Amino acid sequence: MTRDYRCYVDGQFVETDATFANVDPTTGQSYATVHAASDVLVAEAVAAARRAAGAWAATTADHRAAVLDRIAAGIEARFDDFLAAEVHDTGKPAALARRLDIPRGAANFRTFASLIRSAGTDMFETPTEDGAGALNYTLRRPIGVVGIISPWNLPLLLFSWKVAPALACGNTIVAKPSEETPGTATLLAEVMHEAGVPPGVFNLVHGFGAGATGEALVKSAGIDALTFTGESSTGATIMRQAADGVRPVSFELGGKNAAVVFADCDFDQAVAGVARSSFLNSGQVCLCTERVYVERPIFDRFVAALAEKAEAMRIGDPWDSATDLGPLISRQHRDKVLGYLALARAEGAHVHAGGGVPDLGEALNRGFFVQPTVWTGLAQSSRTMQEEVFGPVCHVMPFDTEDEALTLANDSRYGLAASIWTTRLDRAHRMAGRLVVGLVWLNTWFLRDLRTPFGGARLSGLGREGGHHSLDFYSELKNVCVKL
Ligand code: NAD
Repeated sequence: MTRDYRCYVDGQFVETDATFANVDPTTGQSYATVHAASDVLVAEAVAAARRAAGAWAATTADHRAAVLDRIAAGIEARFDDFLAAEVHDTGKPAALARRLDIPRGAANFRTFASLIRSAGTDMFETPTEDGAGALNYTLRRPIGVVGIISPWNLPLLLFSWKVAPALACGNTIVAKPSEETPGTATLLAEVMHEAGVPPGVFNLVHGFGAGATGEALVKSAGIDALTFTGESSTGATIMRQAADGVRPVSFELGGKNAAVVFADCDFDQAVAGVARSSFLNSGQVCLCTERVYVERPIFDRFVAALAEKAEAMRIGDPWDSATDLGPLISRQHRDKVLGYLALARAEGAHVHAGGGVPDLGEALNRGFFVQPTVWTGLAQSSRTMQEEVFGPVCHVMPFDTEDEALTLANDSRYGLAASIWTTRLDRAHRMAGRLVVGLVWLNTWFLRDLRTPFGGARLSGLGREGGHHSLDFYSELKNVCVKL
């Protein structure tokens, strides 16, 4: 069945002349028609969002929280539709999307509904010369129209991570999902429609990025703030384009994340944790590990155990419950990752597992699959060690001292996340404090509490979202000073 993914502007689903085919990465076949928004339609979406802004901003936080709860319930009621759309769009194992992506989509709305109900602001009593004093208190107000641009790797999870707090804070939205993954964002527009979100409050524009829908959205003078998740280079482009209006930006960007494994770790837990962090979603999570540093006494044993885990992973049909890894998102991305497999070999890598394309039989060989790959032997300065691959790959390097491990882990232009595997508390906390990243996991990985700050250092991002950090980004905080 061919699906039809339309834009959603001013409460209407809109067909456009500029359609493009979306490809299911498992089969390499087109399965959906997507209606791309022209510059004119983007302008109409922004105008609709501006018209709707005043009335939505005037609603109470309780009212908006109730709407968010209805959206969460709407996602849960159509769970199987969301699941099918996500798996066709991304090729990720259905079991993973069932456990992670779709529930998190609903959880984002419930979490920000709860947070906005209880959100407070600052109040200070300020001394004055006459002794009477003053009160300073802060009002939370919406920013206005928020532009949201999101990537393809965790489509519903990352899209709703921004839509939910922006709505909760009383903003209106024009949002563009990735051209690779238009499905769940379109279903979300349907859910919003049914949940009674007023026309113009949430607008969805499909299409490509540079020179197309995404760029039109970024350049629109009617957008008051921009929030973006994607590649660091795209973030830099958007930042330049957003500069004219001096608009706030929030960026969640790329990573080249390290895992540091000490000899005193729980060995089996560390091997399993590093395997998961390197290969989950075929390595296409911004938080995935691509650099593993292992203390020398356990290095050989660790490499062998990690390679064994990688070789044991089942690659294949995402609907098969035994499947661990699905395909990469697209032919173009698969070719990019294969380019890094060739580069790593040229740079002197020794391949312990994977290293190529699996043979999955006629039905799946047109899909964009890559084997989970474990390397050793690369120089820290090599391109493969410094550039984000965003595929199921990791390189393992030995170290001798804690200081050396720290230096190696911090030797990156990125600074998103790191995991540390050790049973020594003092060392774990010392390392956590000294790593130049936004997120550290000790003896675990990708364990998220949505109230905590999320974001990266260096090329990995700008600002923090999550919990009250999201509420602060999506709000204009206004101080009121009262002389008593
Ligand atoms: P991308 O930057 O290519 O595209 C992301 C989005 O931006 C898409 O919707 C795209 O259409 C749009 N876009 C591209 N160029 C644009 C332009 N010039 N103007 C406006 N919009 C534009 O990223 P991707 O390939 O979709 O996603 C993978 C990247 O995202 C990886 O680098 C990954 O690390 C990163 N990522 C980061 C996080 C995080 O939270 N830090 C989370 C997920 C993914």
